[in-house]
Amino acid sequence: MKFGGTSMGSAERIRSAAALSEEAWRQRPTVVVVSAMAKVTDMLLEALRHAEGGDEAGLERLLRQLDEKHRQCCAELLEGARRSETQRVLDGILEEFSRIARGVFMLGERPPRSVDEAVAAGERLSAALMAGFLQSRGVQAEAVNGWDVIVTDAVFGNASPLLPQTREKACALLVPALEQRRLPVVTGFNGATLDGRPTTLGRGGSDFSASILASVLDASELWIWSDVDGILSADPRLVPGARVLEEVTYREAAELAYNGAKVLHPRTLAPLMEKGIPVWSRNSFNPSIPGTKIVPETKDGPVGPRAVTSMTNVALVSVDPASAVLSGTRIMARSLEALSAANAEVLALTSSSYRQNFCFLIRTAELPAVIEKLEETFSLELAHGYLHPIDVDLDVGLIAIVGEGMRGHPGLAGRIFTAISQQMVNVIAIAQGSSELTIGIVVRKDGIEKAVRAVHEECGLGR
Ligand code: ADP
Ligand code: ASP
Ligand code: MG
Repeated sequence: MKFGGTSMGSAERIRSAAALSEEAWRQRPTVVVVSAMAKVTDMLLEALRHAEGGDEAGLERLLRQLDEKHRQCCAELLEGARRSETQRVLDGILEEFSRIARGVFMLGERPPRSVDEAVAAGERLSAALMAGFLQSRGVQAEAVNGWDVIVTDAVFGNASPLLPQTREKACALLVPALEQRRLPVVTGFNGATLDGRPTTLGRGGSDFSASILASVLDASELWIWSDVDGILSADPRLVPGARVLEEVTYREAAELAYNGAKVLHPRTLAPLMEKGIPVWSRNSFNPSIPGTKIVPETKDGPVGPRAVTSMTNVALVSVDPASAVLSGTRIMARSLEALSAANAEVLALTSSSYRQNFCFLIRTAELPAVIEKLEETFSLELAHGYLHPIDVDLDVGLIAIVGEGMRGHPGLAGRIFTAISQQMVNVIAIAQGSSELTIGIVVRKDGIEKAVRAVHEECGLGR
């Protein structure tokens, strides 16, 4: 089971998470994966940014805040010798972080591999607190560093696991612990390359850590504890009438996550699909309700639209030939190569038939690298005016309607567009894959919330 940042957000929350872990551990071999306490990863990253910018006071302030937050939590959770012992571990982790941050300060630079090693501190701190508290309750828990188990490639900041090597490590480290009835509390988010360099799995990556471990350990189930009652028909912060879905398929959950439903990290389900390991999305604030079960196929079968999700940190990039002598297909192929070289993911792609111009949607964070690679690829065409300057529109958002079996609902797309336009929101681009699973719609950013609510209502997703 995995506990997210809010589920680890305070001493009180850690107590609840520990109680849920203990209950599971008393019934069956269990591995716990933890996120950093809420906001801690942001604070660590901010501290490194201050360090890079030469702002020593800003860095010191954040180091103090991080120290106080964990010290207070430790004091609320533990007493006596166990408190001092755990506090010593916390001090050691923060000392390591501050050593790296000072290195960044001296260099005036934040090399990605140092960032990955440094930000792992968040999960190491929370794992130490959780393991310490469980031990104080008589549970044989032990904090385990994710980087001692999860082996990844060397893409710092967004690494991918190497599953066979991870399986070997998990069998050597976690299986004996489980056989001896111990409860490993593994740090989420981080791993290491084969030669031991620390990496991270991307923001929100603790879900992914948990699914990687569930897969290599052949777990019978994975439970992801968060702060919502499961996977809902929409983000409850945008749509108050959103409903908990009892079951969704892997494909639906993956599409939702990929298109912005923060409740799951987009890559969580991939390691589990082949083995059919079911995932429960549950609320650690409300553990009496079962949550959502993610399964290969739902009992009801494909029922059409089930949920709507949205994303605003996106950019629409247009590539537009100015001359008919260019082959549109060739331009598209080279653009996609540039996107791949920039390590960017295409969230939606549309093209018109005659003018051969096309546009694609990417995450804003990936924009600088994408523009650099596109301008490099097309330097000649741009210099000679064969290609219009590459156009970027940041004032957009993506809405995605997800559900298996939407093809069996004729007129659905029309109804969705009507519902959106009745809110006076303009549709800028449409992308519907052949998978019948997702309809993607790009609209103006300020219309996104209205559009999400309108689609939710029109498709009857709250019922
Ligand atoms: P954790 O810290 O436990 O990993 P996250 O904050 O990453 O939790 O994800 C949970 C949040 O995801 C919820 O608070 C909710 O606002 C948001 N969310 C977005 N879309 C959905 C959805 N369709 N169903 C449930 N939650 C959603
Ligand atoms: N702590 C990491 C983050 O904030 C990973 C996670 O919480 O899943 O991105
Ligand atoms: Mg999360």
